Amino acid sequence: MSIKKRTKIREVLISSKFGSEFTLKGWVKTRRGSKKIAFIALNDGSTINNIQIVADITDFPEDLLRQVTTGACISVTGTLTPSMGSGQDVEIKATKIELYGPADPGSYPLQKKGHSLEFLREIAHLRPRTNTFGAILRLRHAMSYAIHKYFNDNGFYYLHTPIITGSDAEGAGEMFRVTTLDMMNPPKNGEGQIDYREDFFGRETNLTVSGQLEGELGALALSDIYTFGPTFRAENSNTPRHLAEFWMIEPEMAFYDINDNMDLAEDFLKYLVVYALENYFEDLQFLNNMYDKDLLSRLNSVINSDFVRITYTEAIDILNTSGVKFEFPTNWGSDLQSEHERYLVEKHFKKAVIITGYPKKIKPFYMKQNEDGKTVRAMDVLFPRIGEIVGGSQREENMQKLESRITELNLPRKDLWWYLDTRRFGSAPHAGFGLGFERMMLFITGMGNIRDVIPFPRTPNNAEF
Ligand code: ATP
Ligand code: MN
Repeated sequence: MSIKKRTKIREVLISSKFGSEFTLKGWVKTRRGSKKIAFIALNDGSTINNIQIVADITDFPEDLLRQVTTGACISVTGTLTPSMGSGQDVEIKATKIELYGPADPGSYPLQKKGHSLEFLREIAHLRPRTNTFGAILRLRHAMSYAIHKYFNDNGFYYLHTPIITGSDAEGAGEMFRVTTLDMMNPPKNGEGQIDYREDFFGRETNLTVSGQLEGELGALALSDIYTFGPTFRAENSNTPRHLAEFWMIEPEMAFYDINDNMDLAEDFLKYLVVYALENYFEDLQFLNNMYDKDLLSRLNSVINSDFVRITYTEAIDILNTSGVKFEFPTNWGSDLQSEHERYLVEKHFKKAVIITGYPKKIKPFYMKQNEDGKTVRAMDVLFPRIGEIVGGSQREENMQKLESRITELNLPRKDLWWYLDTRRFGSAPHAGFGLGFERMMLFITGMGNIRDVIPFPRTPNNAEF
């Protein structure tokens, strides 16, 4: 494909075709200069770096240059020359400037640098134009691409699992209802309850909280699959690590046990970090310098050390002998909270940690039960500054054990008939995990709030844009 009309700034900045003519298009970051010369810093999103445009004021109509202000969109044609100034190797000596869209200096909100991330959330429609969100969005693309590349290169197939689901047995969180019923006047059954048989799908439906159960169907036919799609949880947790709409990557593998599952998760996570460092170093360096001086060293430390692997029981022992007073209980049987996870990762081991063998009481029905009758083959991967980044398990392939868990937990067996069929016909050991994409993005970018690593965050009381 060749669209020859213009060159991306990323390419021009590394070009040495001095004297050649280029056409560049982008948005003005700043304009400064003297009575004779205007220096325009132009950015088109292809790189964190701007190109300097040098315009001799006498060459252009006064009215045109007056409108070349921060935020305006222009097209520039000119010749590439080595730059005299510091800070850049090359610049463009403009011969032609065309104004696509001015941006009124009195009302364009991104005049000055250094807006707070909170303010930028209120203008999420414009924040992609900032250096920070340019870097984050390029890295988000990079990680999406690397995820598909990793799985494709390793023989996994991308499986599209449904977004609207009729099963509410996943148990991963509160769900959003999907309905076309008239909310003012819903049809009722004999007992006065809403009659969902009259709803669009003839039953109750929700937005999915996880593609895992359907992912297992794929793995038990194609061997190795992964999903990568949006998931929805109506959890009213206003934390910096939870969104109501987030993206999840869920590989599911036939013939994997819990150890194979851990090996894959560790290899996969390290691959993504290496990919970012090797291909998007400038963006990472920018974020390191602007927001988090430890970002690059943290990324390097994760790829250069083995993840610690301990059991839940060992984790509880460590917490109980730590001498630290935690807010939440640390008795055997309690779920690990973020404060516990971060203590283990950041204070105790100073490395990524994988915890296995959780009490079955605090984990979902589908996890493979250990012989002790108390624990399941779950695994959570914990990362510095994030806590849980991956949750997964070996799955229970034994029909009787699975059915007894469904009964114990009082789950709607009739909605799971299709899931149970995989255990009736050609059941196989298998395992999988879920990586929260935005949790990974928090780790990669060093951002502190999950609202800043997705273009348009959905959180309680917020669905603007
Ligand atoms: P947490 O305890 O942090 O709420 P969870 O146990 O509910 O997580 P899982 O159901 O195991 O998480 O989901 C798999 C992964 O999805 C998690 O490891 C995490 O990376 C991510 N995740 C879960 N809930 C959210 C959310 N509300 N927003 C963003 N990512 C999430
Ligand atoms: Mn949760």
